[in-house]
Amino acid sequence: MANKVLLIIMDGLRPDMISRETMPFVHSTIKQGVEFTSNFASFPSKTRIASAVLATGCYPGRNGIMNNGLYFPALGGAIGTKDYEDLQRLHQSPAGPVLAVPTLAERLVRAGRRVAIATAFSTGGTYLQDPEGYGVSVNHSYIYPAANREMLESRFGKGPAETLPDVGRNQYAVRVLTEYMLPELKPDFAVLWLSEPDRTQHKHDLGSPTVNQALRLADDCVRQVVDALDDYGLLDSTDLFLMSDHGFISSDPAAESVTDNAIRWLSTDASPEALVVNFNSIYIQSEAQNALQEIVTFLQQQEGIGPIFSARPLEGVLPYSLLKLDHERSPDLFFFPRWSPRPNGYGVLGMCPGYHAHYHGAGSPYELLTTMLCVGPSFEQGEVVRHPTGVIDVVPTVLHLLGLEVDSGIDGRVLAEAFRDGRTAADLQVHEFTYRSQLQAGDYSYEAYAKVARVDNTYYLKEANGAVHFS
Ligand SMILES: [Zn+2]
Repeated sequence: MANKVLLIIMDGLRPDMISRETMPFVHSTIKQGVEFTSNFASFPSKTRIASAVLATGCYPGRNGIMNNGLYFPALGGAIGTKDYEDLQRLHQSPAGPVLAVPTLAERLVRAGRRVAIATAFSTGGTYLQDPEGYGVSVNHSYIYPAANREMLESRFGKGPAETLPDVGRNQYAVRVLTEYMLPELKPDFAVLWLSEPDRTQHKHDLGSPTVNQALRLADDCVRQVVDALDDYGLLDSTDLFLMSDHGFISSDPAAESVTDNAIRWLSTDASPEALVVNFNSIYIQSEAQNALQEIVTFLQQQEGIGPIFSARPLEGVLPYSLLKLDHERSPDLFFFPRWSPRPNGYGVLGMCPGYHAHYHGAGSPYELLTTMLCVGPSFEQGEVVRHPTGVIDVVPTVLHLLGLEVDSGIDGRVLAEAFRDGRTAADLQVHEFTYRSQLQAGDYSYEAYAKVARVDNTYYLKEANGAVHFS
């Protein structure tokens, strides 16, 4: 049995991007452990939402982070989650704490375990991993405890600026993990959150030579960490998660931006009481709730709009309860682009209308299907888990691996079917269903659907879309 766990997140890595050519090291590890071929992102499929889910094991509706920007009437505006200073301000305000439930770092440190977090992505995403500072965190622009800054800068230099592919910041995080954290802090649980291939995929086409460079960079980082574990004699006692937080979808350069159109209309013709936050969520002042139906009617007639979600029961709208998005911070509605399986110029499947850049965050299987490989002494070798699992399951599985109790305060489940001597898939209750919501209007109809899987008591969104048809 292992006594340490290391989580390596390769941000935005689609499982179908891994090949012997693009990621030789990661590809070679597949057969050494358990490959999860239906592992789903949390929803919406964005990075900081995943960070909060990977910090808590709870759905956004329970941990309180359901978008990259949230509106707080008490604070007089929206708060972004990208920069840790904003989240720190929220955490210390009456609208805090930033996360409504305990983190994995808190649970582990309270139980006497050591936690270390090295990241190359945003400071906000890093902060969400451990807002109370139970462990040690190092990012190119955020260090906790701050007293470590001088020592880190004298050994590793100042945090590098971003490049594409982001070699400097990812190598910095790897060095901090392998040269400082692993040998000196000796963490029981460590996180390495790489910013690639996400950073490069936003700007360059999936399948392009530049994205392939970013894949190779992430692959090299993983190899360096595994080599370091080997050098320190830690491989036999460490369970390794090689995973991504979400997938990715290509943006159609020929299509107009769905969000631009919607925001233009909302800011000119729609009710002035509607506030658009983070491009795709809408908050409506409580006395103007009839504006919501007007906005939904507009969105449902746009060719580029896919599924719309709300807590309110409206025709053609999918309910928050389906995805555990109910929370006092949740917007009145979320809308997402309509996607199709159409390939990009490199033959990589999945296309949505313009978002100015290639994208993730919505309901296509290209964004929702994530990479997950578990390798180590606790896991089977050469096994494939094909039934649904998800990012939501990582925290309970880590707690179990480190000998802690998984209580009812956690929404995910322990992936015991992947353990040596674990239970078999036949012991699991797997249900899959499709929820549909339709609207028939004068000269058009609109339909949205969500395919959801439930395994025991944990729910996973497999895909969601919506479409208008004019008669
Ligand atoms: Zn991400």
